[in-house]
Amino acid sequence: MQDLFMITPLTDTMRAALEGSFVIHHVDDMDDPAVWLHQYGAGITYALTDGHYGVPREYLDALPDLKLISSNGVGYDGIDTGAAVARNILVTHTPDVLNAEVATTALMLMLACYRELLPNEAHARSGAWATEGNLPLSRSADNRTVGILGLGRIGMAIAEKLAPFNPTILYHARTVKDVPFTYVADLTEMARRSDVLICIVPGGTATQHIVNAGVIEALGPEGILINVARGSVVDEAALIDALTNGRLGAAGLDVFETEPNIPDALKAMPNVVLTPHAGSATVETRAAMGQLAVDNLLQHLNDGTVLTPVPECKGLL
Ligand code: NDP
Repeated sequence: MQDLFMITPLTDTMRAALEGSFVIHHVDDMDDPAVWLHQYGAGITYALTDGHYGVPREYLDALPDLKLISSNGVGYDGIDTGAAVARNILVTHTPDVLNAEVATTALMLMLACYRELLPNEAHARSGAWATEGNLPLSRSADNRTVGILGLGRIGMAIAEKLAPFNPTILYHARTVKDVPFTYVADLTEMARRSDVLICIVPGGTATQHIVNAGVIEALGPEGILINVARGSVVDEAALIDALTNGRLGAAGLDVFETEPNIPDALKAMPNVVLTPHAGSATVETRAAMGQLAVDNLLQHLNDGTVLTPVPECKGLL
């Protein structure tokens, strides 16, 4: 049996799959994880975390014998992969199994913005329809120019899921792809040409505030911003300013700069749709992610290989 340091919440299914092979040490069961790690950290070889918790630096430093960090989620900006690779620690994540679900979330937010779902729902539920009559018309989501920031696994799933809405798709990424969509090298220019901008790039320093005031204002007063990537990708203060002053039409946001806190200004706006980082949060998709996170641990225990390493770790394989 190997010792497994657990940072992420654990489902019963994951626990059952792991218990035969690992002794589980969960941070929630420790009075003070720092004290516990000081005493027992040496000798722990495996860690399981997720995209939300990552691996705080003090945990990484206190686990000198770590071999593998399995992260339950595709985004791993909370893990210092440079430090991990320097110590020959493999990092795995859970790509692909959540593509369709996150794409659904992006479309759900986009459709809710165009069709003003929340004001309409409130109007129906409150009885105001009977007393005040119909609300003004909303706008159609059909035939729009959609700019996708990050045309990777999930970005492609979003493009495919948008097809019935007959979009013109533009995209911005680091590299040009062999796809039937138009690459735009300059993000501000793409925003200017788009009705809606959907963000689905990784977080981290390279994409910090890549959606800045200039990009937001290029979308314009009729424009819609959808962020299902990471809160750090969008300059939230600039976003609030543009929405407040009518320089951006609407926003659908699943991620925020200081999660789980959401600025009151955003909560108060009727043209903003908010979800609590729930892009992949369905029973089916979370089960598939959990299974992959577990399978990476079990396979490494079995033969030293893993199923889905992050690209930074491929040199260690
Ligand atoms: P991929 O690695 O498959 O795709 C990432 C895309 O972003 C690629 O097209 C890549 O470009 C592009 N990109 C990366 N860095 C930059 C940059 N600096 N400038 C411009 N483009 C860049 O990742 P996934 O599609 O699997 O996931 C994307 C992200 O979505 C995750 O990292 C995570 O943060 C977020 N996510 C959010 C969820 C939620 O619950 N809201 C759930 C799941 C994921 P290129 O192809 O040229 O390399």
